[in-house]
Amino acid sequence: MHNNSRRNFIKQSAIAGAGLVFAARGISNASLADSSTTFSLPALPYKYEELEPHIDALTMQIHHSKHHQAYVDNLNKALKDVTTTYKTIEEILKNISKHTAAVRNNGGGHYNHTLFWKLMKPNGGGTPTGSLSDAINTTFGDFEKMKQLFNDAAKSRFGSGWAWLIKNAEGKLEITSTPNQDNPLMDVAEKNGKPILALDVWEHAYYLKYQHKRADYVAAWWNVLNWDEAAKNFAA
Ligand code: MN
Repeated sequence: MHNNSRRNFIKQSAIAGAGLVFAARGISNASLADSSTTFSLPALPYKYEELEPHIDALTMQIHHSKHHQAYVDNLNKALKDVTTTYKTIEEILKNISKHTAAVRNNGGGHYNHTLFWKLMKPNGGGTPTGSLSDAINTTFGDFEKMKQLFNDAAKSRFGSGWAWLIKNAEGKLEITSTPNQDNPLMDVAEKNGKPILALDVWEHAYYLKYQHKRADYVAAWWNVLNWDEAAKNFAA
């Protein structure tokens, strides 16, 4: 392959609403090497204060406008050195072992938070319905059992990380957790699958309101869970 075309990486946006913006800078024959995709911070589908009292407004503001923004900015910087052609963030994550820690940490950070924001909503909570509910009952016995196992994964993840409900390659539900900004799409993950539920258990997600009481934050999170979004993740 000619050098110029190899460097013409077109990682265009593909996951709906994932906050990826296809920036068609210089996709001309004259300047192939200048073309690139930049990722951008997705807007929240609610206001910072709307998840109160379960998640406080200041935590949401800092978490979204500072932490997530930093993952986006640092991902864009890290991708300047990537010469592989990728069409989606998922493709990057599935090949993450080939890339730097900066791509892994910030690519994961961007993907995970984009998913996390959408999985919450004001006046959320309740219980799952439809085919997701059926799958939970089949796999775990009932919703309460699944919730307990998920909470255990969230509480026992040492240090910073995430808890997940995933759909694996066989279509079966599983609970897992990952360190740092890793996720179950990454080829380095202990368990692979498509995220259905995602819970951020970094201290920055809860410390202002809950301090060291991660378990209280985990318990409160179920009150803002957006089950419609979880159902979409499961159906996709
Ligand atoms: Mn976070």
